Amino acid sequence: MVDANGRSVGRSMRILVTGGAGFVGSHLCERLLADGHEVIALDDFSTGSPANVAHLMRSSRFYLVEHDVTTPFDYEIDRIYNLASPASPARYQEDPVRTTVTNVMGTLHALECAERHGARLLQASTSEVYGDPEVHPQPEGYFGRVNPVGARACYDEGKRCAESLVMDFHRQGRASGRIARIFNTYGPRMAIDDGRVVSNFIVQALRGEEITVYGSGSQTRSFCYVDDLVEGCVRLMEHPVAVGPVNLGNPAEVTVLELAQEVLRLTGSASRLAFRPLPEDDPKQRRPVIETARRVLGFEPRVALRQGLYATIQSFRAALAAAGEGERRETAMAS
Ligand code: NAD
Ligand code: UDP
Repeated sequence: MVDANGRSVGRSMRILVTGGAGFVGSHLCERLLADGHEVIALDDFSTGSPANVAHLMRSSRFYLVEHDVTTPFDYEIDRIYNLASPASPARYQEDPVRTTVTNVMGTLHALECAERHGARLLQASTSEVYGDPEVHPQPEGYFGRVNPVGARACYDEGKRCAESLVMDFHRQGRASGRIARIFNTYGPRMAIDDGRVVSNFIVQALRGEEITVYGSGSQTRSFCYVDDLVEGCVRLMEHPVAVGPVNLGNPAEVTVLELAQEVLRLTGSASRLAFRPLPEDDPKQRRPVIETARRVLGFEPRVALRQGLYATIQSFRAALAAAGEGERRETAMAS
């Protein structure tokens, strides 16, 4: 167990991580095991993979269970991190009804499990609850601007409903909840075919393919390295009182075009930029106000974009090589 400063203290707990074989989930499981806890990762492997946690299987305190959270589950646990949900716009729009059901029913089942065992739950919410925001940067008090009937609504409204479930269980005294509003997070173990911007750009650059910039690339995001996010989640979970939704992310804001240029620089790729249509309801700007996390949790992102991208590129190089794909550098040399 860790205190609000992230130091190991006290007893070891049994912790359930739904979506534990996903990108963020696998890093979280790793961290919780390192803190001395027993960890159960529950996953249907729809966007995650057992390979993400293969290195954790050596631990006698780690269990991986295949389960779809849209059906109920029950484990005697002290904590639940509820992460089960596709997170990439491309993936969550493939089967939008399922995305809504996963977020609403999955969160309900996680809360019911927490209630039965007196456990505390942390909900992995998202900056998408702010939609395409008119208020910039986004503080937790902003109610957002979500198109409720658009292509992203399955995720945005699913996550908003999940937040309301957490708050209502809390207000009714049924389960103690925490809500982490996670802003764009990246790092090793994002799926190669995930479709999100960081993984797309890195994979395209390493393969010598065109870098697909949607729209003009002037839209902004603020990218947080996964280790910083995991630290924030653990601090939020272990904070003694529920403090309402808390933004977790890195406020350093860049345009998508700047991100593409940084990836090209760091990979040494000569891939060309290819401009593609902007997807429906794509937020024009996004940057978290993290004063609540700073003040209440002592949270501070440590990893700068360049440093995090470098580590992520290294991991993608290794993943592509393991998949039998040599890096295509001939494009770079030919130009
Ligand atoms: P991810 O797709 O890598 O991980 C999600 C995991 O949930 C996968 O392992 C997937 O197989 C699993 N899953 C999906 N539906 C399930 C179901 N019905 N039953 C059981 N498991 C299921 O994505 P991620 O980036 O690791 O995201 C983790 C969580 O954090 C998600 O809830 C996401 O909405 C949230 N989040 C992530 C980001 C980010 O930038 N990474 C930003 C905001 C919010
Ligand atoms: N994007 C892009 N090229 C890609 C993938 C994404 O230009 O290959 C853009 C996308 O339109 C958005 C931003 O990058 O403006 C972040 O997209 P992502 O899918 O990573 O997550 P979002 O923040 O939109 O949920």
